Amino acid sequence: MRGWRLGSRSLFKHSFTRFWSPPGLHIRPFTRSAMSTPVPPQPAPSWKITAQEILDRTNKAIEQNRKIDDEIGAETNPTFENVILKYARAEDTEQAVVTPLVFYQRVHEDKDLRDASLKADQLLQDYYIEAGTREDVYKSVRKVYDNLPKDLDPESKRLVQKIELKYRRNGLALPKEQRDKVVALRKELSNTTIEFSKNLDSEDGFLLFTREELDGLPERVFEQLEKQDDGKFKMTFKMPDVQPVLQYAKNGATRKKVFVGYENRVTANSELLARAVRLRAEIAQLLGYKTHADYVLEERMAKNASNVREFLTNLRQKLDLKGKEEVQKLLELKNKDLQARGLPTEEKLYSWDTRFYDNLLLEQEYKVDHEKISEYFPMERAINGMLAIFESIFSLQFTEVPKDSDQRKVWHEDVRQYSVWKTESGKPEFLGWFYLDLHPRPNKYGHAANFSLSSGYYDDNGNRVFPVTALVCNFTKPTANKPSLLKHSEVTTFFHELGHGIHDLVGDAKYSRFNGNSVDWDFVEAPSQMLEFWTWNKDQIKELSGHYLDESKKMDDELIESLVKSKHVNGALFTLRQLHFGMFDQELHTKSPEEAAKLNICELYNRMRQEISHVDQGDQQQVHGYSTIGHFMGGYDAGYYGYLWSEVFAADMYYTKFKANPLDPVAGMEYRTKIIGRGGSRDQDENLRDFLGREPSNAAFLEELGIN
Ligand SMILES: [Zn+2]
Repeated sequence: MRGWRLGSRSLFKHSFTRFWSPPGLHIRPFTRSAMSTPVPPQPAPSWKITAQEILDRTNKAIEQNRKIDDEIGAETNPTFENVILKYARAEDTEQAVVTPLVFYQRVHEDKDLRDASLKADQLLQDYYIEAGTREDVYKSVRKVYDNLPKDLDPESKRLVQKIELKYRRNGLALPKEQRDKVVALRKELSNTTIEFSKNLDSEDGFLLFTREELDGLPERVFEQLEKQDDGKFKMTFKMPDVQPVLQYAKNGATRKKVFVGYENRVTANSELLARAVRLRAEIAQLLGYKTHADYVLEERMAKNASNVREFLTNLRQKLDLKGKEEVQKLLELKNKDLQARGLPTEEKLYSWDTRFYDNLLLEQEYKVDHEKISEYFPMERAINGMLAIFESIFSLQFTEVPKDSDQRKVWHEDVRQYSVWKTESGKPEFLGWFYLDLHPRPNKYGHAANFSLSSGYYDDNGNRVFPVTALVCNFTKPTANKPSLLKHSEVTTFFHELGHGIHDLVGDAKYSRFNGNSVDWDFVEAPSQMLEFWTWNKDQIKELSGHYLDESKKMDDELIESLVKSKHVNGALFTLRQLHFGMFDQELHTKSPEEAAKLNICELYNRMRQEISHVDQGDQQQVHGYSTIGHFMGGYDAGYYGYLWSEVFAADMYYTKFKANPLDPVAGMEYRTKIIGRGGSRDQDENLRDFLGREPSNAAFLEELGIN
């Protein structure tokens, strides 16, 4: 129970758009060769439950855990078996019970069940805090940690270290007085974070523009903006309003006004971020860390602040020139555009220009017809095709449980249930249960995400307890005369999320807390980001495609080419923007409490943006964009670099092992055993080096962006 993190893979959410598709349904399932599969050795969860049962089971799980903690805390002769193994076994069995209970709130039609599920979630969160601060348990854990048995296997040794570390990070190794100080500072930090989000959520600022000032906006955007009595249009600072204005408004002064207004929409948060940075520095020092970044990174693949600095600095150096070239190209486009409109040219490309000219470049030089492309991805065929690709690379088999089978147990009639098998030995061996919940419903989770519902592990007798995992998506449901057609971005997202699901299923860890997806936060996205490459490979796109009116008709080369060419337009510029956030975040969180108290965050943010991104801010050097970005405030503090970190290693893995032959089953098996199979049971950088056969490098990532 202690280690579970439901929905952690939905960290980087992708939202789906609904779309209308032309009538004329003709669906033929993608045929996949399959060996016949026996009855799975572990039945699927039942999904039949009442609201009261959700609460009863949650309370019972908490009680049992508390009792086990009491026993561990009272242990007079602590050993690996009676403390650590006992702790891990409780965790293994409890996560299998409670994780499905908190899943109902995301997917169930019955409001009572959803409410009970939410309540269960809160009960567990509260218990989690209580359990993490038990001195008696820590004393027993610490005794085992200090006298590690010599013959312990590496995964069990890692287990001891991770459990001890969790308590130590909670301050339990500190004298009482110091620990109380940490608790008080954390309380203040938590209140500061809550206030920051509240300000952000309740922000309701807007700007008013005449139709002329908004010239260039598509008619659909005018329709969506609220019209005032005086004929002006109201633009709020919500994304659906701001984005099209920055993208389409021809008037530079309008875009500048929007940019400045947007950056300064919650200035009250500036002071709150400064306070949080100072509090974090103080807490880190009390806990014995040099800086907050070192505290955070201790539990990440990156390990410490100097590794992150080196990673970001190196990337920046290599991207710098290409970034300047991209800015230059956009500036030339800007001046051509201004001249054509009879306006004076300008010397610089400003922050409020980038989206507009990036879009103009896409329109002029990279015409991609996304509607037409989607005609080649009818949902049923695309999904079967994607499962088939996974089957052949990773030697797997997905067997759908028929609607009339007594094995079928689901939370909604639309849900598809699969037993998943590994096939490399020639006879199918069970790996776990997999669900696809594809279509939108009222009150269902609105994005696409993988939910790990039960993690795999080996029990005391060495028998495998198999994982259960689900993909929740929101594809339009096909009807008799309207097929569901996937956009290319949706194909990519599905592939990505499926990657998280597979990570869970092929996990082979001894303890549930290390299985599959349970890896360091800065590596959790890498396997799925790597799999996205398949959806940009010309041969794979062709293979996967089949026109919905005649599935034997593949996408033509020209259409594929136009899509692939558009993948990295202004890629260096985009990455430099991410680098600005990543480096700013590290600057904030590598300060001593004294330095943090003196820090001028506004100056730092604006100076770094201009230096790193090469986009100018003109006379707007004091805007407060950092006060509107929740990432720095909570969850991603000292962790923003993680987006780029995992992308760089995803590219390295793909280029090294799969680029030449994306369907190579030998590389697939090696990847399955060395990377995803090991999950978090070993250091992830060790796994990566083992798989690559050398030190990881950013060369492939740079090559993707056209830098050699
Ligand atoms: Zn993901």
